[in-house]
Amino acid sequence: MVLIKKSLKSSKTLGKIPLLLYGRVFMETIFSTLKINLLDPLLIQQYLLPWYDKNRRVLPWRALPKHKPNPYHVWLSEIMLQQTTVSTVIPYFLNFIHLWPTVQALSEASLDDILHAWQGLGYYARARNLFKCAQEIAKHYKGDFPSAQNTLLKLPGIGPYTAAAIAAIAFEKNTSPVDGNIERVLSRVYSIDIPLPISKSLLKHLAIHHTPLHRPGDYAQALMDLGALICTPKNPRCILCPLKDFCRAFQNGKAEIYPLKVEPSVKPTRILDALWIEDRSGALLLEKRPHKGLLGGLVMVPIPYLNKNEENLFFKEETFPLKGFVSHAFTHFHLKVRILRSFIERDSLPLLENQFWCPLPDISQQALPTLMKKIMHHVL
Ligand code: SF4
Repeated sequence: MVLIKKSLKSSKTLGKIPLLLYGRVFMETIFSTLKINLLDPLLIQQYLLPWYDKNRRVLPWRALPKHKPNPYHVWLSEIMLQQTTVSTVIPYFLNFIHLWPTVQALSEASLDDILHAWQGLGYYARARNLFKCAQEIAKHYKGDFPSAQNTLLKLPGIGPYTAAAIAAIAFEKNTSPVDGNIERVLSRVYSIDIPLPISKSLLKHLAIHHTPLHRPGDYAQALMDLGALICTPKNPRCILCPLKDFCRAFQNGKAEIYPLKVEPSVKPTRILDALWIEDRSGALLLEKRPHKGLLGGLVMVPIPYLNKNEENLFFKEETFPLKGFVSHAFTHFHLKVRILRSFIERDSLPLLENQFWCPLPDISQQALPTLMKKIMHHVL
């Protein structure tokens, strides 16, 4: 037992190595060594699907019962839902399908318009990949999403989770997407004493073990809904749960401690200056960030050194720093921005290729990231 736990930890990659490498026999050996008794594969679906039929969430991307799902809606929602809550995503999703009702229409849009519609959702690489993916589907698949998980995986922005979600939900393929909600439910049902992310592959295997041949898409969505509505991170409502009779964490009175988690490492903090430069007519100097890298393709005031190797703006004019900092969290670091403000004669500053003057009242027409909105709020 100790040996297996050590080997799981030392690889620290169990969640990243393809499950098939382990093989079913190896995983079953691990389960038996860790004394995890597998439940009957049919057990969860037998209790869960009737609960889902009565309690499912009504979401704009979800097909109504007995209706065929729209793969474009499933894909768009899954991309938007990465790192983002359902309530935040709903208005963005509705706006996107209003602006671009089909993947073909999305593929014919401009990236600037897509980034503009995406502003506020964060993680802008998703929007750029969304556009690339739409173009590939239009060009190579005549606007129809492929249904095979392996083919989906080759498309821009589609990782293993999203490929499994689209295959199961849009095409009823017998596969198991495992998101945070599903990890939580299965960690509790099996009271898995190995912390996340080390336990990811174990949980994936458990999800596969319970995936039904019939209604795999509903099964995945039922687990997601159970995690969102009943088996919540705090104060799970076990008494209302359809799985309570065989949930080991509930039976041991320990539901809330699962899933165990490895302490996250502390993110570093970077402190940088943003240049808020206005000309005498009240126009602001903006720049469109390079497509690759942080906030790619979006419009910001210049923040020299935001990309470590980017060209610096050589700016000699007198500036005065505003009080306080604007704070923003990126995936790998926290950013604290000090704002240096100055007023200049427009002709005195040679612009870089990606820079331009924008009258202040017109700024909202640009694709602005949340960081820029925070900076504007701080200054204006
Ligand atoms: S019984 Fe409680 S802990 Fe177990 S799956 Fe249901 S809500 Fe989660």
